[in-house]
Amino acid sequence: MQQYTEPISRLIKAFAGLPGIGEKTASRLALFVLNAKAGYGEELAASISDLKDKVQLCRECISFADGEICGICSDPARDAATVCVVSDYKDLIAIESAGAYRGRYHVLHGQLAPLKGLGPDEIKVAELVERVRAGGIKEIVIATAFDADGETTAIYLKKVFAGSGVRLTRIASGVPVGGHIEFMDGSTLGRALQGRQEA
Ligand code: ZN
Repeated sequence: MQQYTEPISRLIKAFAGLPGIGEKTASRLALFVLNAKAGYGEELAASISDLKDKVQLCRECISFADGEICGICSDPARDAATVCVVSDYKDLIAIESAGAYRGRYHVLHGQLAPLKGLGPDEIKVAELVERVRAGGIKEIVIATAFDADGETTAIYLKKVFAGSGVRLTRIASGVPVGGHIEFMDGSTLGRALQGRQEA
């Protein structure tokens, strides 16, 4: 790295730790912040430091929320009997952006990946079992990715909830094999949800 003065190289190092950001881009970002209009750097710093303090996990769906219950779980207009299971928050955002789903969610915060040592204890399945046990859920829509880990997770969920009386569906794979929910466009996602089938 070039010999930047310490406060600048500190910020470059922080930016370079972000996914997809190399050292060159990190340097450009740091210098941008340095030259930005008054208040920009302060707002950037404040929004980052607030993130961990103010964002918590919704106690219902385990999604990110700014209180104990997220906006979706507290919305009476959302169908509480239908729960769409996604592997992470980015997928929830993708489905919400598509605007075709009116039920609620459950965020697993991961997928089963036996080869990487990620088992059921590493994802938020127990919380979903608890929700089903509490009653009121009639359908679980499995919207994990269409790759090996996503399919493994879907099969596992099917096993866990077999005999629970809850209808299990899987969103239609109108996407290429290996397709990730977050990269599907809105209309494809809408069709995938509409065309969901028994899991
Ligand atoms: Zn929630």
